[in-house]
Amino acid sequence: MIQVRNLSKHFGNLVVLKDVSADIRKGEVISVIGPSGTGKSTFLRCLNLLETPTGGSIEIDGIPLLAKGTHVPKVRQKMGMVFQSFNLYQHLTVLENLTIGPIKLQGRKKADAQQKGMALLKLVGLAEKAHSFPDEISGGQKQRVAIARCMAMEPEILLFDEPTSALDPTMVSEVLAVIRRLAREGMTMVIVTHEMEFARTISSRVFYMDEGLIYEEGTPAQIFDHPQKAKTRAFIHRIRSFERRIISPDYDLYAVQAEMGTFCEKHMLPKEVTAHVIHITEEVLTLQRDFTDIRLSLSYSEKDGSLRLGCKSAGAPYNPLDEAREEDEIAVRLIKGLCSASEYRLEEGMNVLTLKMKAK
Ligand code: ADP
Ligand code: MG
Repeated sequence: MIQVRNLSKHFGNLVVLKDVSADIRKGEVISVIGPSGTGKSTFLRCLNLLETPTGGSIEIDGIPLLAKGTHVPKVRQKMGMVFQSFNLYQHLTVLENLTIGPIKLQGRKKADAQQKGMALLKLVGLAEKAHSFPDEISGGQKQRVAIARCMAMEPEILLFDEPTSALDPTMVSEVLAVIRRLAREGMTMVIVTHEMEFARTISSRVFYMDEGLIYEEGTPAQIFDHPQKAKTRAFIHRIRSFERRIISPDYDLYAVQAEMGTFCEKHMLPKEVTAHVIHITEEVLTLQRDFTDIRLSLSYSEKDGSLRLGCKSAGAPYNPLDEAREEDEIAVRLIKGLCSASEYRLEEGMNVLTLKMKAK
């Protein structure tokens, strides 16, 4: 359905896409992952000609997009794009946001467009909000409207550019659920995302972008569990873990806890696991004596569904689990109760505490 050959895109001297080639078949769901700034958005924007490629070719359903004489608006209508920011028309109701395109651009009758619009709002769970205005609904609801609005144009391919990045963590799953549903219905989709659990479960293939290329591609299992190339491996490792350094006793506990919580949510860990992590973080910090250099880490292994919380700290050797002050006994008991394993060791002059828990 989409055939990309040797696609390149330069912005002045900046070479963003060097040589991208890809084939995407009908009904496939492709997740595009990679560090920021590697051209993921640019790739999507080239696919629907929001950017003009510098070189290479793109064919959609056999129609060469970049050839002279191709009727671009018509081919572009085959594609819908959902952005990070929802870009709804603020002065139109939810339903009007869905009908304006079909009426103005496709010459549909108003009644037909409304009927179709309502059906789509049902599909994304927002029929109730048809007559609300965008500023009366939540971010997650806005993004679902944006998806329905795309669908109203009856595209054959949907492109998503980080559809959940601008959302509060609590609203991510409702949007992902809608995208899942479209996948089940056989929609062809290309999704740039940082939601790795989601990418793993929804995609037929994953493209890892780096160095202006599709640096590595494969099934989710190949990319997430057995990446072949060094940069892919480093990236996968990095997104699985989180590190936070504390260098003074006046650190912001709430910010640290929030960051730990966000990491858990990104990996779609159950609420109670997230709550445990936040709780354990506080207790582990309570037990510390030296705050000149503490490195908290969290890593999640999809393989055995375990979560590891590490706390490395400088200072005199001190095993917080055995040598805690009396008033801290309760913190120790809490930690041991919530974790399936705990271990202390001295490593290169740092106290290393490792706590392991079941994540799912
Ligand atoms: P990603 O989506 O992977 O984070 P982008 O495709 O947004 O990456 O951007 C890749 C690079 O291209 C970045 O260095 C960005 O600054 C640059 N870039 C993107 N769009 C433009 C533009 N319109 N003009 C100049 N540079 C751009
Ligand atoms: Mg981007």
